Amino acid sequence: MRITEVRAELLRMPLPRPMQSGSSGGIKGGPVGRINMPVVFITTEDGTRGLGYSWSLLGGDTATRCVLRDDFAPLLIGEDALDNERLWHKLYRRLQTVGRRGLVTQAQSAVDLALWDIKGKIAGLPIYKLLGGCRESAPCYGSDGGWLYMSVAEMVKAFEEYLAQGMMGVKMKIGHENPKVDIDRVREVRKALGDDVWIAVDANQKWDFPTALRVGRELEQLGIAWFEEPLLCEDIPGHARLAAALDIPIAMGETLGSRFEFDAYIRANASDILQPDIVRVGGITEMVKVATMAEVAQLPVAPHHMMESTIQVACGVMSSAPIEYMPWIAAAFAEPAEIKDGCMLPPQKPGLGLEIPEETIKRFRVD
Ligand code: MG
Repeated sequence: MRITEVRAELLRMPLPRPMQSGSSGGIKGGPVGRINMPVVFITTEDGTRGLGYSWSLLGGDTATRCVLRDDFAPLLIGEDALDNERLWHKLYRRLQTVGRRGLVTQAQSAVDLALWDIKGKIAGLPIYKLLGGCRESAPCYGSDGGWLYMSVAEMVKAFEEYLAQGMMGVKMKIGHENPKVDIDRVREVRKALGDDVWIAVDANQKWDFPTALRVGRELEQLGIAWFEEPLLCEDIPGHARLAAALDIPIAMGETLGSRFEFDAYIRANASDILQPDIVRVGGITEMVKVATMAEVAQLPVAPHHMMESTIQVACGVMSSAPIEYMPWIAAAFAEPAEIKDGCMLPPQKPGLGLEIPEETIKRFRVD
């Protein structure tokens, strides 16, 4: 099934709700209001068209489109679109000296998603069924409601809406300059939602080791489900020390760029929960490998963001991983993600089951 065309686009869309974390803010501080979505359409000789995409908040978007158009398209034309594993290695090795993580990997992930979309369409099956069909839905936790700029009352209102939908719980950001502010906010949210509600917190790599240790001990007292990205992601020994010192699980992995980076964390016992992002880790092909590594290490997986494509891997090969409900790119797709009783259902259409209408591309395209 030869590839005949590779088309790269870049969309820039408003976020449904502005975001601000311990590591991400606008150029002049404050919340970020938009998201970049590089998109690739890969067409085969029989007219089958696969959709793939990546995402970024703070740059790299036009460069990602360039990698898709200038580097990957010539490598893909004429290849068999069904050979996703072989093509993953072809792209990885070809751009190894300038890639291996970051925007080159994100462009590669977009290609990988498109190849799986083609495979599913040709097979006439949703990808989660092709992968293994572990389950028919995955529980969601509400994540677009706990940003640093929001008041406790605003967060509680957003969280209560998620819980009213039957979602398993919620996640809030921490990472203010003064961590006491964060502890007070978490305490107030815990008090408002009650002791039984599942709450996770995310520091987005904000702190140094002593601060993270101190905050982690406070979070343990508040019954928090996990402490996400307490330290810089490069600091594997620091995460290992923290994981050993604290009872609260350390969750980590959204910025890791391949199975090799996850392997380093697993070998160092540096994270209790692994959080691959399907776009940052290398697509479906790579995420499936990380899921297997996690299973061998007996570590839970909690995938990061990009729920519309992640649901395929989460239901295909994972028996218990939750979905992070974050509708950041929902505006691009013709149909919204299906949420029922707080769980996300994978689309039943072949492939990813996603479509970006041409009028949407026109509306959000960056030239
Ligand atoms: Mg996070």
